Amino acid sequence: MHYIIMDLEWNQPLSHRSAQYQRFGSKLIFDIIQIGAVKLDEERRMLASFNQFIQPGCYQKLHPRISRITGITQEDLRAAPGFPGAFGRFISWCGDDFALATWGSDDISVFQQNLDFYLNDGSAVPPVYDLQRLFGDLESAGKNRAGLQSAMKRYGITASMDHPFHSAVSDAYYTALVFQRFPQASEVLKYEQKARELPPAKAQKGEKLDDLSAPSIDLALMSPQALHPNCPACGKRMTVPEGYAPMRDGTWRALADCPEHGLVFIDLVNQENAGGKNPVRRRAQICEQQNPAYVRTKHLQWEAKVASLRQKEVYA
Ligand SMILES: [Zn+2]
Repeated sequence: MHYIIMDLEWNQPLSHRSAQYQRFGSKLIFDIIQIGAVKLDEERRMLASFNQFIQPGCYQKLHPRISRITGITQEDLRAAPGFPGAFGRFISWCGDDFALATWGSDDISVFQQNLDFYLNDGSAVPPVYDLQRLFGDLESAGKNRAGLQSAMKRYGITASMDHPFHSAVSDAYYTALVFQRFPQASEVLKYEQKARELPPAKAQKGEKLDDLSAPSIDLALMSPQALHPNCPACGKRMTVPEGYAPMRDGTWRALADCPEHGLVFIDLVNQENAGGKNPVRRRAQICEQQNPAYVRTKHLQWEAKVASLRQKEVYA
């Protein structure tokens, strides 16, 4: 049997208000962008390493913070395969007989969520064992969630320039060095981790999200939930006087007015790619700008948008 020490890096949405997050956030919170791993034999000798960048399928623009921490650039990801291809490569590199271990328990949950989202075929992450918890028990209970760097310090392992921290393959390498110092390799097999359910997207203040039962965006646009949406603050039923117009990201938007709360954006977000049962989500969001001139201009703009859309349909 081989031991495989794995580390993942993942990208996050630029903002929880971004169209991508609104669209995918209930199913996928992070896009894995790098799998790094080191393979050891039963005597814990290092045999090989694995490094794979992954092109994010949902949160395609690298968050500046992630780029800064990991050193990964947009360029690194451009030619990389998507998650399914990268996962296939990784699993075949792992071989037939292996135990997968990580430092801490975050990776497995993110890994499982990416599998569910992109493969959606019931694939499960192989059992993953937590070296951090084993280290905590070896070093007394007080150190239960020690960082990798403090474990390295404990064993006198120094970082080298060749292996910058927070690159998946370097962190896997350092984790493997720590693993080599443990008294007994097989002890780690007592520390199996379970994937946690990651918290779904939360609605922002002044915002309400509902999954509509319409099977497609075309039918959703004609549904009562689209034509008579409720104010997200008081629940009052409103109308959408101009109707819906598509935005650049594929969302359909209409404007509604609550007598008490003012201008409300009603967005129908198509989540078809997310593989869910109710592919259209309605987002009702009270507009931050409520001055009368702005609201009036917005309505005029929408009227023009919808009118030109109708014209195209008539003459198409
Ligand atoms: Zn209201």
